[in-house]
Amino acid sequence: MKDLKRTKIATVLKTPEFGSIKTICGWVRTKRVSKNVAFIALNDGSTIHNIQVVVDLEKHGEEIIAEIHSGASLSVKGELTESPGSGQVVELHVHELNLLGKADPDEYPLQPKRHTLEFLREKAHLRFRTNTFSAIARVRHAMIFAVHKFFNDKGFYNIHTPIITGSDAEGAGEMFRVSTLDPKNPPLNEDGSVNFKEDFFGKETNLTVSGQLEAELGALALSEVYTFGPTFRAENSNTTRHLAEFWMIEPEMAFYDIHDDMDLAEEMLKYLIAYALENCADDLAFLSQRQQNEEKNKKEEDRSPMELKEKLLFVLENEFERITYTEAIDILRNSKPNKKKKFQFPIDQWGADMQSEHERYLVEKHFKRPVIVTDYPKDIKAFYMKVNADNKTVRAMDVLFPQIGEIIGGSQREENYDTLLKRMREMSVPEKELWWYLETRKFGTVPHSGFGLGFERMIQFITGMGNIRDVIPFPRTPQNAEF
Ligand code: ATP
Ligand code: MN
Repeated sequence: MKDLKRTKIATVLKTPEFGSIKTICGWVRTKRVSKNVAFIALNDGSTIHNIQVVVDLEKHGEEIIAEIHSGASLSVKGELTESPGSGQVVELHVHELNLLGKADPDEYPLQPKRHTLEFLREKAHLRFRTNTFSAIARVRHAMIFAVHKFFNDKGFYNIHTPIITGSDAEGAGEMFRVSTLDPKNPPLNEDGSVNFKEDFFGKETNLTVSGQLEAELGALALSEVYTFGPTFRAENSNTTRHLAEFWMIEPEMAFYDIHDDMDLAEEMLKYLIAYALENCADDLAFLSQRQQNEEKNKKEEDRSPMELKEKLLFVLENEFERITYTEAIDILRNSKPNKKKKFQFPIDQWGADMQSEHERYLVEKHFKRPVIVTDYPKDIKAFYMKVNADNKTVRAMDVLFPQIGEIIGGSQREENYDTLLKRMREMSVPEKELWWYLETRKFGTVPHSGFGLGFERMIQFITGMGNIRDVIPFPRTPQNAEF
């Protein structure tokens, strides 16, 4: 095969060197044949934009052009020239053409027309080749990079927390078991229960639901750390906001109280959005257009009130409202939808858990800005959250966004050994398993805080995608682990 030293389409389009000879490789999006030339739109994933490739039929023969269809892969060498056609500045006039891989038009599933997202989920092995999914993949990458940059620039250390965990402290019943025992014939104890002492790790193990507890150990020595890894939840909730495998960003900071925690969360979210606006402009413009086209087919009440960029600026330019859970419940109880019984889960009393319909009401209707709710009832929150002086609420803080509802869950952590132990006993958290966690409160304990940002929920927000299955390349959901 000929020399494949190629220039990426993004590079060629950014500063076109007219008259230069370039080799470009990519996949055919569309082909149009007129009298004696063929126009091929080629894309290599480096940008949302295609390059127009112009092939002289007399020079290259009609036979090869006849074999080129959507999805085929090409390497073309030729001269970059100014394009006389509208819609592009530059085109490539082909000197050498290599058909690297054919794509049979009767079999290739991605035709140059609009496919539904549901259809594309079943073609996840190829959906990267669509404008929508390549745009999302590039935005996702930019956001991963931005997360690391944000924390690195602030002096945080990234630590890898374990994916296999021996404690199920946080996610009783919602965890995936990790075992090498033979499910048909496991070793048994005398009472008939499975003897996990003979399992690989000598104990029951699961996939982690959060890296927080281990990240805390890091923070209590390195001061400011974060973990950014995969987390797993076997919750059988088939919603547009839940995955069984998702990625979570979890910073933990020593010497931070809940206010410092909220400041960091707000700063990080704004940083990520500003980064996307600055670095993903072309992809966001495409995704915004895409969303506007979709909106036309939706019922009035399902329409998004804001255009994508407008929505991103809405977060960027507004100070987040900070209210207590008690205040939030008062607002919700007296709200129109509650009185008119429009909420699926009516709010009648203090202590109720907020659902996303309530969270979105606070953000989209009441405050018209992102909201941070603090000081939740201790009964609906985790054992490690710091108990307030009222002994009824804990120093939790959830960040609520338009469209998404809860995007961040965090808290100041309980640093007092006795209080923490008491909470664990009250909530039947196995203290023996978490002896190491408890010891950090015995030796040089300090006030500290942290939070968890669901990475896919953030990507949903930034790309405007309605279903979380479309912002991770290979979604894992109940009954679905193809690819
Ligand atoms: P929810 O009430 O929405 O299920 P949660 O209270 O279970 O969320 P946390 O345990 O606080 O969530 O997790 C921290 C963050 O992780 C959430 O704010 C959310 O952004 C994200 N998250 C939680 N569960 C999932 C999931 N199943 N899929 C994707 N992201 C999730
Ligand atoms: Mn959940």
